[in-house]
Amino acid sequence: MTNHTHEIIDIQQTTCCIVGGGPAGVVLGLLLARQGISVTLLELHQDFDRDFRGDTIHPSVMEIMAQIGLADRLLELPHSKARTLKLSSPNGDIDLTDFSRLKTPYPYITILPQVTFLEFIATEAQQYPNFHLIMGANVQEIIKEDGVVRGVRYRGDGGWHEVRALLTVGADGRFSRMRQLAGFEPIKTSPPMDVMWFRLPRKSEEPNGLSGRVGNGKMVVLLDVAAALAPPTLRFLASSLYDF
Ligand SMILES: Cc1cc2nc3c(=O)[nH]c(=O)nc-3n(C[C@H](O)[C@H](O)[C@H](O)COP(=O)(O)OP(=O)(O)OC[C@H]3O[C@@H](n4cnc5c(N)ncnc54)[C@H](O)[C@@H]3O)c2cc1C
Repeated sequence: MTNHTHEIIDIQQTTCCIVGGGPAGVVLGLLLARQGISVTLLELHQDFDRDFRGDTIHPSVMEIMAQIGLADRLLELPHSKARTLKLSSPNGDIDLTDFSRLKTPYPYITILPQVTFLEFIATEAQQYPNFHLIMGANVQEIIKEDGVVRGVRYRGDGGWHEVRALLTVGADGRFSRMRQLAGFEPIKTSPPMDVMWFRLPRKSEEPNGLSGRVGNGKMVVLLDVAAALAPPTLRFLASSLYDF
């Protein structure tokens, strides 16, 4: 058994323990809960709001939402739709993307803050009595017995807690502590661009939807999230692209 020196306040038993309440963890939690499997989802933060991270849902993701019967209700949440991406450049306008040409019931980018998406999925999962969501759970240790992972220990409400599970899933993102604790080596890649992402107030005369400007190897993309956020905002995604 893994050595530990902390006093454990309680030990919970589940079938699947998921660490991390991002899109991967929350959707997996819902899918397992729907199958009647006992799931405990542990999320480090007290809410799902990870500004700035993802305000767009792409057509392929909407198709998955449709497959699990949630697309229509997702589209009832405040959102906007971007159907084209037109960039202006020193040599004139470029029609970079026209999503309406896609053969899908969702030929657009749905602009919806990731926090709203995650709250929606988590609320859906919480209808199932076998789904347990614990916010403010900082997983710091895995429990290993005879070389087998049997669960995790986390710091949370009042001290240390233990969750014992048949299956433990690390869905704790890019800098995954679970991956590190389990000794997995990620395959490193190096995307050929740097991105800055920030939010500014939007004036009524400024563009809505998705637009941008390109030139001298750099691109700025303007993503209008006004319909989905208050106060109205305009997010800028500024990329510096190699060989553009
Ligand atoms: C600036 C930016 C913009 C993006 N824009 C988009 C977009 O518009 N559309 C899109 O589809 N994607 C976008 N992405 C990508 C998208 O956000 C990621 O692909 C997605 O969040 C990955 O989901 P995940 O569940 O694997 O991990 P994450 O979303 O990183 O979730 C991991 C979760 O684990 C929790 N966690 C971490 N450590 C612990 C711990 N020790 N114990 C418990 N919990 C822990 C974290 O708090 C977090 O909630 C963007 C990413 C960035 C950085």
